[in-house]
This record gives sequence, structure tokens and C-alpha cells, in this order.
Amino acid sequence: MQITALALVRGDAMSCIKLEFSCDQHFRNYNIAACPQIIRGASIKNILSQEDHSRDSAGLTYVYPVISRRAGGISIGINLNPNNACNWRCIYCQVPDLKHGAAPAIDLIKLEQELRAFLQELIYGNFMLARVPPEARTIKDIALSGNGEPTSVREFERIIELIGKVQLDFPLPEELKLVLITNGSLINRVTVQKGLRRMAALGGEIWFKLDSVTQAGRQRINHTRANLQRMHDNLQIAASLCPTWLQTCVFKLHGAHPDKTETDAYIRFIRMLLQEKIRIQGVLLYTIARPTLQPEAADLLTADPNWMKAFADKIGTLGIQVKTTI
Ligand code: SF4
Repeated sequence: MQITALALVRGDAMSCIKLEFSCDQHFRNYNIAACPQIIRGASIKNILSQEDHSRDSAGLTYVYPVISRRAGGISIGINLNPNNACNWRCIYCQVPDLKHGAAPAIDLIKLEQELRAFLQELIYGNFMLARVPPEARTIKDIALSGNGEPTSVREFERIIELIGKVQLDFPLPEELKLVLITNGSLINRVTVQKGLRRMAALGGEIWFKLDSVTQAGRQRINHTRANLQRMHDNLQIAASLCPTWLQTCVFKLHGAHPDKTETDAYIRFIRMLLQEKIRIQGVLLYTIARPTLQPEAADLLTADPNWMKAFADKIGTLGIQVKTTI
């Protein structure tokens, strides 16, 4: 929709989307001529669900709505990696055709237009009624989370500024969050740090991936050689710039939960962070909810709720908040 017209014609009812805009220079006075087609094309099979996190759910390049288990409502996703490229390869990753690499150059005009158009439709249009189940009809967050690592984008700081500017033009819930879901590996970059400062000013938060604190565990789960000192340092930088949560995915690999060596190392690491007064907001503990699209798919199973609760309790004894999503 970059945009005088975008027409996507695909095989389902929701897929014919044509958005037309007449924008002023700042994209404030725009006219969404065809967003109603989103609604006209909606049908029961297009109702969003927790199981469907397709980046293509609105037929746009960068903006996609999902129902988030963790957020408990609508999460407006911003996919900065339409090329499906990431610098890691997590074995539970759900990105289709995941490639090694970085985000492409982002078309900022198109991103802004998509975000404005989608918010317009979500807030003033019929999207909620047509496509969102009643219990999830609340906008919880705007999440930089896509088909790869969002901080690999060169324009990171400008994108945060852009989102902040667009947010101001819509009556969004006061508690709406801007969330960055990241593997944290590029937070040493100056442009990323500038963006994180902007995020903090916008009331944002970082969800920093921490699946394992052992070298072997990170290699096995995330396929990264990033060492623990680098992760620690990046975490320290992140937490000093913007409220930061750790997000930890647990699951059974070849039928077994993470062993005691792993969980003990994890607890020691969190304790060390707390002793160093690194201001972590808490831990988001979750398990795989949708099938992985990696070759290891058959080796992974959802973690048992009881195991997760026991691990969460153990982390909680350190005096840190733990939110578990089963
Ligand atoms: S960091 Fe995220 S996008 Fe990258 S491989 Fe892991 S789960 Fe996939």
C-alpha cells in the first residue's frame, strides 16, 4: 500500500485488499478507500486466533495483527524482517524459510502508511468485530517482532520515532505498550541504543531472549556462538536504557526438560544480575505453542505445566517477578 493502491489477490476471502491513500506530506490527512474490503472479505475462517501468528494476517508488508497469549489481547506486530532473516537459528523458531542474515532496508513511508491505515481500521473500522474474538478485543501492544531479529535493521532509531509519532495521532489505550522482542545480540550497536532510549521515553519495554546461559545450551537451542559475557553486557546496556524483561522459552528436547546443570546455571546467572543491581523487570517464562518450522520440529515438545511452575517458583525465590505462559 505504498500507496496509491495495493491490491493483493490471494486464495482466501480476506486476501483482496486495496488501500488507497491521499496523503499530505506527514500522512495525517489520509483516506482509506478500501480498508472496508478487509471487513467485507472477513469470514469465520479469517477470525484471528492464538494459533495463527502469520505475519501476513492483514496482507501487509510490515504490519500484522495477532492475538497474543502473553499480552492477552491484540498485539500489533511490526515485522522488520520481511526477508525472513535472522542472525540466530533457534530450534523452536516459527519463521518460514528462515535465512541467516539481517533485515533489509525498510521503506519508512510504507511502514508509516501501513501502521496508520491499520490503526485507523482497528479503531474506527470494523476489524475488531469482524476478525477478533470477543474476549480479545483490546489493543495490548505494538510489538517489534517479526520474521527475524528486529534490531538488525539499520533504521532502528528512526522506526521507533516513527511509531511514537503515529501513536500520538490515535486514541490508543493509555496502558498500550511498545514492546521490542529481541535476541539482544545487537544491543551493543549505537543506533539500537539510541532507539532504546526513545522507546523508554515512549513507555516501551524490551523482551530480551535468554533461553540458556551455558555455551552448549545456546549453541543447541539458538545456534549462536555469542558468549555469556557479551550477553551479560548487552543485557546490562538494555536494562540501563529501557525497562527490560527476560524472555525464556522452555520445552522438552528429545523428551527431556532442561537438565539440572542448565537450570542451576540459569538461577546463578539471574542471582548475579540481581547482585550487580542490573534492573531486570522480571522473567517471562513460556513454552512452544505452535509448531516450529525448523528441522528439529519432531524433537520438540511443549514443557509440562508442573515443570514450568516448579522452575518459575525457583526463579521467584530470587525475589524477581516471573510471569508464566503455558
Ligand atoms: S531469534 Fe527469533 S527470529 Fe531469530 S531464530 Fe530465534 S526465534 Fe527465530
